[in-house]
Amino acid sequence: MFYLLNCFIQMKILLNKIDLNEALFGMSNLGFVPTMGSLHQGHISLIKNSKKQCKKTIVSIFVNPTQFNNKKDYTKYPKNRKKDLSILKKLKVDFVFLPNINDIYNFKRKIKIPKKDKILCAKYRKGHFEGVIDVMDRFTKMIQPKKIFMGEKDFQQLYLVRNYLKKKSTSKIISCKTIRDNHGLALSSRNLHLKDNELKTARSISKKLNNFKRILNKKKNIEKLINLKKKEINNLKNVKVEYLEMRNKFNLKKDTNITNSRIFIAYYIRKIRLIDNF
Ligand code: AMP
Repeated sequence: MFYLLNCFIQMKILLNKIDLNEALFGMSNLGFVPTMGSLHQGHISLIKNSKKQCKKTIVSIFVNPTQFNNKKDYTKYPKNRKKDLSILKKLKVDFVFLPNINDIYNFKRKIKIPKKDKILCAKYRKGHFEGVIDVMDRFTKMIQPKKIFMGEKDFQQLYLVRNYLKKKSTSKIISCKTIRDNHGLALSSRNLHLKDNELKTARSISKKLNNFKRILNKKKNIEKLINLKKKEINNLKNVKVEYLEMRNKFNLKKDTNITNSRIFIAYYIRKIRLIDNF
């Protein structure tokens, strides 16, 4: 009987703040998965985690304009609304929140991130994380989830949002492992922009870095080796490395102790910017 009833419970699509407040009234064990859509297995793994850990799950799809430092990048961000909704329906997500810009940005304010955090992507994408933190704080206040599920693929984002929200909210950030394709490339909506030969290059970079991290265990002159690896990747056709750095995974300070560190990379293939960490 319960199974039968469950089959008829529809995924609710919430188009604005009024829908949201009505649907979430009195909800106590809610998992939230924020996304910008064009859903892939990476997003799906966050949703599955939320469904496992929480009674109800809400997924947002919102391409947040304030986190794009490049306007073209914003307008060209891949959009697949119909396919996304069908994926979410199949996953039996309880709520999908599709707000418009005015629902989110109904008051003005300025987020500042500390100088010590202006590293990696924060150094190269001016205003990006200020936009991410702002939107995440607004969503968290509106939805008041018990848990928020975020991917390690965007490690610095996870780190900064967690640090910001821990002072402001009781919602707990749950970090989820990076999902990769069969060739080791981290899934990303931006991979859709890559041509076949560029996809091959991106996969080869992932493979190189994965192997590189393994051999670093036994090495001493790590900084020099990282610089050499950076040059090697930079020499690949159509590739421009923005940064390749090893940093401590707990505080993101530069670190050459391999056990507590990750290797962070941002690079362009033609005009497509990809990031990953190993
Ligand atoms: P996005 O739609 O790119 O803003 O991503 C929404 C969430 O999905 C973020 O928390 C990302 O870190 C996470 N995510 C994106 N790609 C992956 C991946 N390959 N594996 C795990 N999580 C991911």
